[in-house]
Amino acid sequence: MSLIVQKYGGSSVADADRIKNVARRVIRTKEQGNQVVVVASAMGETTDELIQLARQVADEPDDRELDLLLSTGEVVSCTLLTMALRSMGQKAISLTGAQAGIRTDSTYSKARITGISPKRISRELEKGQIVIVTGFQGVNDELDITTLGRGGSDTTAVALAISLAADRCEIYTDVDGVYITDPRLVPQARKLEEIGYEEMLEMASVGTRVLHPRAVELGWVYGMPIMVASSFNDSPGTLIRGGVPMEIRNKVSGIAHDFNMAKVTVIGVPDKPGIASAIFEALARANISVDTIVQNASINRITDLTFTVAKSDLNKAMEVIKPVAESIGARNCTSDATLGKVSIVGAGMQTAPGYAARMFKTLAENEINIELIATSEIRITCIIDGEKIPQAVQALHRAFEGYI
Ligand code: ADP
Ligand code: ASP
Ligand code: MG
Repeated sequence: MSLIVQKYGGSSVADADRIKNVARRVIRTKEQGNQVVVVASAMGETTDELIQLARQVADEPDDRELDLLLSTGEVVSCTLLTMALRSMGQKAISLTGAQAGIRTDSTYSKARITGISPKRISRELEKGQIVIVTGFQGVNDELDITTLGRGGSDTTAVALAISLAADRCEIYTDVDGVYITDPRLVPQARKLEEIGYEEMLEMASVGTRVLHPRAVELGWVYGMPIMVASSFNDSPGTLIRGGVPMEIRNKVSGIAHDFNMAKVTVIGVPDKPGIASAIFEALARANISVDTIVQNASINRITDLTFTVAKSDLNKAMEVIKPVAESIGARNCTSDATLGKVSIVGAGMQTAPGYAARMFKTLAENEINIELIATSEIRITCIIDGEKIPQAVQALHRAFEGYI
């Protein structure tokens, strides 16, 4: 008998009919002779709606209260799915993150899992139950509820699969796999049969939201294969795994985009040791991840420092940075939330020159200005006007089609 962890995303459980559809799929897996643990996200746009509601009562909702509020979305979908399964004659039980033994640190809104004690899940499985666990949430040492960051149910599923030593982790969503690029922007994009963890992690980290980056990271570290497929049809999905042979490590395996970013510039910074550390330590203390960092060449020992953060972190970043900027004698601090980023990713790019030039030329031909450039060994990222992202992704897909 195999143990399978299946995760269903928000669009897969968006209404009562879709919840019943998921229930039927879960039953099919169980009737094939498997034990099944299901992780579900909140219904449809519930999480966005709850955030909006919170903002109607407070400009900056309290982190702890917001996490508790958001965690209710997953409680609704999971209890409804369990009721549907039970009314279809199955033995099923829903568990919250805390009941499922998911412990996290206390970084509200982007908590990290510190450990899972899956005893309760195992006990329920032994009784023949289908176990439904609320995605995206855990509990800290104070037993306060935390959430894992937007899209974090994927991470719940992979983490549970690892801690239960499951045979497979399946992520069901509204597309039937991982495509070269977002099929909503480029309908003719090709689906990948499989992709290595490293490339998938790069893609997820720069905006390919079909998988949460920490889910891929965990899968990679613990060698848990992850299948991404559709909950609406049975077409074969994309397998994310290690050891993808060199021959199929594509030069360009993906084109990713991300609207959720903002640029912060600290202007007129004295160019001397300790300045960057003062700024970035303050951001790190506030749990704000910084992405691309660029420091201009200094003129008369004065320079500008630019970096990007998630749009959702911008207000907090400015709050943190302003006093630091003042204390180090910087002239000013500005921000721009109208930007986005496009990236090309491919393990094979390391050994093939000319990819950056081709990317920049494509953007230039489309009259798209590049604000910042960042690279890793297997990725090139350009920060551009957010409104031009769809055009950029389509043009890059055309330019790199033959290299994919
Ligand atoms: P879920 O609610 O199931 O977690 P998400 O909205 O988080 O679903 O992720 C699925 C979406 O990811 C798709 O609808 C698609 O628009 C988007 N997406 C972005 N890039 C890709 C890609 N390269 N391949 C597949 N889907 C992608
Ligand atoms: N419901 C949460 C969100 O919308 C978590 C998830 O869907 O994975 O981000
Ligand atoms: Mg998702």
